[in-house]
Amino acid sequence: MEETLELASFRGDDDPSLVAAALACRACLSGDVDWSLLIDDFDAEAICRCRACGYARAVSLTSEQALRLALQDA
Ligand SMILES: [Zn+2]
Repeated sequence: MEETLELASFRGDDDPSLVAAALACRACLSGDVDWSLLIDDFDAEAICRCRACGYARAVSLTSEQALRLALQDA
């Protein structure tokens, strides 16, 4: 599977709506996205899958962003 890794654009202290907007589907722009965190020793990713169109992608996260998502209820 071919994936283009993108960088998440929100900050650790951003409003939840901005975080959701950063993870919104790139294909159909739906905000109805399932995501899960993948964290290892070196970096973190959010695997995002659109509930509307099924488009899935990986978003690269800083440790601050990963912490932000880990604390947020999906
Ligand atoms: Zn979509």
